[in-house]
Amino acid sequence: MRSEICNHPRIVDAETCLAGCTCGGDHPAPEVTLYSGEDAAQMMAEECRAVYGDRPVLLLFDPETYAVAGADLEQRLLSEKVNLTTHQFDSNPVATAALIDTVRDLDHGMALIISVGSGTINDLGKYSASEDQIDFWCLPTAPSMNGYTSGIAAIKVKGVKRTLPAAPPKRIYARPEVIQNAPLKLRQAGFCDVLAKVVSDIDWQCESLLFSGSYCGLPAAMMTTVEKSYSEHGLEIGRGDESAVMGLFHGLLISGVAMSLAGSSAPASGGEHLVSHFWDMREPLTGREPELHGLQVGVGIILSTACYRRLRELAAEDLPHRGEELFAATAAEIPAIWGPYADEVAKQFQGKRDALIQFNTLLPQKWNELQTLFQQVQSPEYFAELFARTGAPFNLEAFRLTKEEFMLAALNSRAIRERITVLDLAAHAGVLDLAANDALQLLSC
Ligand SMILES: [Zn+2]
Ligand SMILES: [Zn+2]
Repeated sequence: MRSEICNHPRIVDAETCLAGCTCGGDHPAPEVTLYSGEDAAQMMAEECRAVYGDRPVLLLFDPETYAVAGADLEQRLLSEKVNLTTHQFDSNPVATAALIDTVRDLDHGMALIISVGSGTINDLGKYSASEDQIDFWCLPTAPSMNGYTSGIAAIKVKGVKRTLPAAPPKRIYARPEVIQNAPLKLRQAGFCDVLAKVVSDIDWQCESLLFSGSYCGLPAAMMTTVEKSYSEHGLEIGRGDESAVMGLFHGLLISGVAMSLAGSSAPASGGEHLVSHFWDMREPLTGREPELHGLQVGVGIILSTACYRRLRELAAEDLPHRGEELFAATAAEIPAIWGPYADEVAKQFQGKRDALIQFNTLLPQKWNELQTLFQQVQSPEYFAELFARTGAPFNLEAFRLTKEEFMLAALNSRAIRERITVLDLAAHAGVLDLAANDALQLLSC
């Protein structure tokens, strides 16, 4: 039994935070720590006992995560005489308000919740713990998304996925062997989600240049420390090579921290994320169960990069001055696309109407500076090939998306959020439909 509690390294330390900042703002480093090693479960069990003694602890998993890591951790916690309650969700759980109620019914009087799993189980534990002010730790089982360290949870409320605030875990314990052997599709999804930053960072710089001035180079600087280990290594990630997959996993953890540091999801969520949110939100209307977040985002990356390429071909004098007209045309589509949710979407879109009208004068003025940013983005072919190199198919069919549903999202997802992204720039410049068709070609083979 361990009587001392180790202070594991923070995922991003305070000096790194200061060094990369370009905005002069305040970026307190999140306290989440990581212990990574084959003995991570044993370390977790001993430290759980050392920190919480006889106080009750709730362990969450599903049958799949129980098999790969939960059973082993449960044994170790019991051997350390942790006062343990366990809960197993059904296979493929969805983070619904109903399951949150289940967890919150169980967590009365608990000192700690531990999630064993990836996206959904992490979100269920994180959100419940946060709401009930209970400590939260996590043992990840897949490098599938950047939500482990983020300050938000995706919860489906009345059929619609919402992004709600939730405190990140205090401690993460990772077993490389488990992460490395996660199902291929989950590794591919994480690969797409971490690379989203490459385009969302440019979206953020464009928006900042045009309007808010809020850009900070810190998130991008943080990512450059790990990027090399995974960014070109689709094949190795597909094969399950330890250094590439663990590099990807660290990249995802840092990407989640970057969002909390920036106080906004802008560093990791631009236009490429909007199409994914679009399909999540459309589920009650279409009956299509959303694909893994990262894979839908990967489709969005192909669209965003196609937009950047089309924008690169334009000169300032090519830009139309039709901000108002284009706003009205997209707004007119909202009722047919969103039915009962139309009012909510219309409100979001209305929130950026003024900005879109200002495009008439701002875009020509800033076009040279914007072009410098557009030039930094790689081609859609580059990303499509990279994602497919993992060995899992990367096309609309694999993700159960029809061409019609893809085009609908490509042309209309800019309406669902107030944030200005490359999709708005492309729509204003009159190249969004061309870019959508470029992406469609790539995603149809
Ligand atoms: Zn800063
Ligand atoms: Zn994401």
